[in-house]
Amino acid sequence: QAKLQGAGRLVVLDEARTQAAAERSAAAEKLSHALERNELEVYFQPIVDAQSRQWVAVEALLRWHSLDGLISPATFIPIAEQTRLILPIGRWVLATAAREVVRVRAITGLPLRVNVNVTACQLQETDFIEHVLTVLAETGLEADALVLELTESAVLDDPEAAVTMLSRARAAGMHVALDDFGTGYSSLSHLLQLPVDIVKVDRSFLRNVTTSARTRQLLHALVDLAHQLDMSVTVEGVESEDENAAVVEAGCDTIQGFLLARPMPVAALLALAAENLAPRPVGALPVGALR
Ligand code: C2E
Ligand code: MG
Ligand code: MG
Ligand code: MG
Repeated sequence: QAKLQGAGRLVVLDEARTQAAAERSAAAEKLSHALERNELEVYFQPIVDAQSRQWVAVEALLRWHSLDGLISPATFIPIAEQTRLILPIGRWVLATAAREVVRVRAITGLPLRVNVNVTACQLQETDFIEHVLTVLAETGLEADALVLELTESAVLDDPEAAVTMLSRARAAGMHVALDDFGTGYSSLSHLLQLPVDIVKVDRSFLRNVTTSARTRQLLHALVDLAHQLDMSVTVEGVESEDENAAVVEAGCDTIQGFLLARPMPVAALLALAAENLAPRPVGALPVGALR
């Protein structure tokens, strides 16, 4: 039909669009078999205390070992969301993350929390909280050790339903984090009225943090505001000691980033924890400080 419109550019655009759609449905078809074929794996990235660098939590980050190689969640999560495959996948991630973290807590003795990402589609399931409670009961993970991470778009898709669901999660003892803070479009006052315990500041916030006093002041003001509202602040994506220093200076509570550790399989997480827990000479770095 694009040809009838006469413009060559439109034909090209139309073909590109058709091809993109075809690639998406091919990916969706493969993703629909990923669970049964054991192609999914949960990686974990430590989140550390800004002052002591002790591990306080780990974020569960999904990986897909597809036949075409390792595919980034930034690519396949949106497809999973569109096709609602995120529902079974999300349930599997939650159960797997809970089970693994119970094991890691038992082996290391560290009282780690686990942060699990949740999308709009999952939140709109009326039995979402019941399902989470079942997973907690089956795995033995305490509600207090679970942090549900949501982006502003996930919440604002259906704000009333989301707020009800998040309030129920908190009433049951879980924690709620607002992910990717600073990348959306909503007003600060709107966002900070949501029932959340933790604000996760996006890496894009760090772009000028080492060079611009203004950016550091902004971060500091944001941290102060969050603290006044009884929220804690995690900064994501800290890659350098300079960025880390600026973020600590701004008063943020916890830090997550390649500087401290990358996302890794649970076996690597256990090895790193063992290394960090090993007795070390006086004056050595505190637990969790090693990469
Ligand atoms: P997110 O929830 O904001 O997760 C943080 C992302 O930042 C992760 O990307 C992590 O690897 C990356 N990151 C951490 N530290 C650094 C750093 O120092 N520098 C840089 N450049 N990046 C850093 P990842 O693992 O590729 O995941 C991307 C996104 O995919 C996540 O962003 C989340 O939105 C989504 N995602 C991942 N796993 C799941 C899941 O199980 N369920 C759902 N619904 N979404 C997931
Ligand atoms: Mg997250
Ligand atoms: Mg984030
Ligand atoms: Mg992100």
